[in-house]
Amino acid sequence: MFDVIKIRSDFPVLATTVYDKPLVYFDNAATTQKPEEVINAIKQAYTTYYSNIHRGVHALSDISSEKYESAREKVRSFINAGSVEEIIFTAGTTASVNLVAFSFGERYVKSGDEILISGLEHHANIVPWQMMCQRKNAHLKVIPVNDDGTLRIEEIDGLITEKTKLVSITQVSNALGVIIPVKKIIDKAHEYDIPVLVDGAQGVQHGHVDIRELDCDFYAFSGHKIYGPTGIGVLYGKKKWLEEMPPYQGGGDMVERVSFEKTTYNKLPFKFEAGTTNFVGAIGIGKALDYIESVGMEDIIKHEKELTEYASTRMKEIRGIEIYGNTKEKISIMSFLIDKVHQYDAGMILDKMGIAVRTGSHCAQPVMARFGIDGTIRASMCFYNTREEIDVLIEGIEKVKRMML
Ligand code: PMP
Repeated sequence: MFDVIKIRSDFPVLATTVYDKPLVYFDNAATTQKPEEVINAIKQAYTTYYSNIHRGVHALSDISSEKYESAREKVRSFINAGSVEEIIFTAGTTASVNLVAFSFGERYVKSGDEILISGLEHHANIVPWQMMCQRKNAHLKVIPVNDDGTLRIEEIDGLITEKTKLVSITQVSNALGVIIPVKKIIDKAHEYDIPVLVDGAQGVQHGHVDIRELDCDFYAFSGHKIYGPTGIGVLYGKKKWLEEMPPYQGGGDMVERVSFEKTTYNKLPFKFEAGTTNFVGAIGIGKALDYIESVGMEDIIKHEKELTEYASTRMKEIRGIEIYGNTKEKISIMSFLIDKVHQYDAGMILDKMGIAVRTGSHCAQPVMARFGIDGTIRASMCFYNTREEIDVLIEGIEKVKRMML
């Protein structure tokens, strides 16, 4: 039985106060809070078996290595990838996209080629491609956005050409919460034999991800947005690409043999994990995925859907609120503006009521430009949030209106 009160007690920070008000944490799209199990797993790693992985012959190193590799297996099974060789630990989504942009770019992209992204991307899925395009003299093309925040996917056929080398697309818009029909886009790109990277930073924590069913070529996500630690993330890549792609960084662990004349590289996935990785972070991600499974993804989806519907209904009752990303297919993100109130002023007033929302462009300035605004107020909810917290937000919005209009 899904019991939100019990779930909340798993997250120590949710019981804290801000300015003597109970914390209402609605900034989950930026980063999520951590359950005690994750915090304890990290503490346990540092206090009972901490030692560097892979290189030791001693007992502690064996334990660390085993825990790290079993976290990799946990990630594999969580997203239903075919093999642990296809699971690379990175520092986060940004690092994962940069890895592919650099390495795939080095191997496959030449002057005049094209990369296709969408108008809903986070900067992390724009700038690495721009940098690669600059290096390679390639071009970035963009799938346009409709007024309701959905993508004009019917335009994809016209945007793909024989020069398109890769499509890189977000699963969910972090700025609007809109869910993108990535499966359709993947199937369409594959009709032209073009690989697809899915930025799963806002997708993986809100629904089932089945890599083999999606059939994407790359999938990236961050630990800190899925109730795990910061500084750790995942890149899934199909073996056929990863084997061909050159390493992104050089150093320890990613090599097989090194001499001054010639260096050979380690096998997958280690070829892409140079240096001492954030192995404690990886152990933390593994624990976070265990935790999510213990709550149950079906219940998470159901609870978050109820919250989204409740928040939409309540917000639509208030005059002067403009909601951006007004579609049915969305995750529990409400991105909005209150009349002519600057989002920053609204955020400050809400903060004083203990409500943590994010204001600004949400690292998606092209999305804001598309709607002719410079930012929104974003209340992003997840499975530990409640209807009562939404009521507090609604009260807060009324207060903002009273104070500012
Ligand atoms: N893509 C999307 C859709 C995101 O929401 C974010 C984080 N806001 C990122 C990429 C970047 O993630 P990170 O900062 O964890 O690397």
